[in-house]
Amino acid sequence: MAEKRKITVAYGDGIGPEIMQATLDILFAAGANIETEVIEIGEKVYKKGISTGIAPESWDSLRRTKVFLKAPITTPQGGGFKSLNVTTRKTLGLYANVRPCRSYYPYVDTNFPLTDMVIIRENEEDLYAGIEHQQTDEVIQALKLISKPGSEKIIRFAFEYAKAYNRKKVTCMTKDNIMKQADGLFHKIFNEVAQEYPTIETNHMIIDIGSAIIADRPHSLDVVVTENLYGDIISDIAAQVTGSVGLGGSANIGPDVAMFEAIHGSAPDIAGLDIANPSGIINAAVMMLVHINQSEVAEKIQNAWLKTVEDGIHTSDIYGKNSARKVWTSEFAKEVILRLGQTPTQLRAVKYDQNVVMDLSKMSKKPKAKKELVGLDVFLDWDKDGRDPGKLGEQLKKADTKQLKLNLITNRGVAVYPEGHPETFCSDHWRCRYYPEKEGTVIQNEQVIELLAKINEAGFDFIKTEHLYYFDGERGYSLGQGE
Ligand code: NAD
Repeated sequence: MAEKRKITVAYGDGIGPEIMQATLDILFAAGANIETEVIEIGEKVYKKGISTGIAPESWDSLRRTKVFLKAPITTPQGGGFKSLNVTTRKTLGLYANVRPCRSYYPYVDTNFPLTDMVIIRENEEDLYAGIEHQQTDEVIQALKLISKPGSEKIIRFAFEYAKAYNRKKVTCMTKDNIMKQADGLFHKIFNEVAQEYPTIETNHMIIDIGSAIIADRPHSLDVVVTENLYGDIISDIAAQVTGSVGLGGSANIGPDVAMFEAIHGSAPDIAGLDIANPSGIINAAVMMLVHINQSEVAEKIQNAWLKTVEDGIHTSDIYGKNSARKVWTSEFAKEVILRLGQTPTQLRAVKYDQNVVMDLSKMSKKPKAKKELVGLDVFLDWDKDGRDPGKLGEQLKKADTKQLKLNLITNRGVAVYPEGHPETFCSDHWRCRYYPEKEGTVIQNEQVIELLAKINEAGFDFIKTEHLYYFDGERGYSLGQGE
C-alpha cells in the first residue's frame, strides 16, 4: 500500500469539532489513505493574543503536508483580529476558490432541481487587497487591483477544471461596461485563454445580469469564473438557490498548498448539540481526496453520501416532507458509512476519473509593454467658495506649469469643469486632470514634481496623484466622464 498521505486538520470552533469528527470517521471507514496532523486555529488561538488566529508553528504543518482540511472557526468581532481565512489564502497563495453548487431535489428543497454549476472565484486580488484610505473628510477610497498574472492564473484554472471534470461551458462574469480597464483586462484575458480550449463553449455576462441568471436559471450555467468580490457574492446566491448552503464544500487551491472547508460558519447557536449537518465538510473532504489523487475513495464517499440523502436520512436543518428519519450528526456519519459501496438510484451518482490532471503551469509570456507618461490626475481636498467648481478651476489654472495644463475637473467621476451642470452634487474630493499642452506628448516625473510644487504653493491640499500612462500606445486609464 502506498505511503499514507499526511493532511493537516483543524477542528475549529462551534460545531467544528462535531462535524470534523463525523467527516474523519467516514474518511477512515472508506479507506482514505491519509494520516492527520492536528493544528489548533480560531477562538482559542485568538484568545492567546495571536491576532491571526493561527499559531506560527502551525504554518510549518501546512507547508509540510500542503493539504488543509479545516472546520469553520468563530471570528471574534472587532479588536484587531484578522480573518484567518483571508490570512491563509493570502499567505499560502490559494488563488482559486472552487465552489460546486448542486441541487439534491427532491430530497433538499429547491426551485431549481437541475442545477449543477461550479463557481471559480479569484481569491487574492480585487478589493480584497484591503488597501483603503480616507482622503478627505467626506471620501474614502478602496483600491481595486486586478493583475494580468492573477487574472490569467484563475482563468486558466477554470478552463483546466472544466476540461478535467468534463464540463462543457465556461462563463466569465465581469462589470467591464463600467470598469473598462480593470474588468476589461479580466475579460480580455478570458477571451485569449479561451482560444486554447476550442472544445469548451464560452460566453461572457455582465455580473448584474449574471447574478440574475443564477437566481433565475442556474441550470443554464456550468462553470463560472469571476473576480474576487463578484465571486464572493454569486457563490452565496448559487448556494442559496440550490437549497444547499449547509451542504456545500469549497476548495481553496494554490500552487503548493490547498485548503478544503465547508461554506457555512461555526454555528455557535447549535454547537455541542449533535444536530449540525456535517455534509459541507464531507463534500469538502471529497474534493480534497480528488485533489490528492484518491479519486476512488472520493467517489465511494460521495455516492454513499448521495444515497444517504436520497434515503431521507437527514439532519434537522434539511428535515422535511421528503425525509424518512431525523438523525444526529454522529448518526448521519454512521449512516453514510453503512452505505459505503452503494450508489444513489434517483440522484445522479458521481464518477471521478482516476487522477484528475490539470495543467496549471502554463502562463503566456509577453514582452513588457512600452510605458509612457502622458498626463497626471491630482486629487484635492477642497472645501471653499461654496464648492463652486468654476472657482476651483479658475484658481487652480494659475498653478499650471509650462508643460502641464489643467484640462478637466471631476467630482466623484462626474465632469464639473470646464463644463458641468449646476445640479451635480460636489463632495470635498476633486480629481484634477492635467495634460501637456500638446496632448500625447510624453512627460517626465520632474514635470510632475514641478506641478505639485506649484499647486502646493498656491495653497491647495493635494491628497494623491495618479499617473496617466500609455502602454504600447494604448491608453492605460479611463477617460473622465464627458472627456
Ligand atoms: P453560520 O454559517 O455559522 O450560521 C448561520 C445559520 O446556519 C445558523 O442558524 C446556524 O445554526 C446554521 N448552520 C450553519 N451551519 C450549519 C450546519 N452545518 N448544520 C446546521 N445548521 C447550520 O454563520 P454565522 O452565524 O454568520 O457565523 C457564525 C460564526 O462563523 C462567525 O464567527 C463567523 O465569523 C464564522 N464563520 C466562519 C467561516 C469559516 O470558518 N470558514 C465562514 C463563515 C462564518
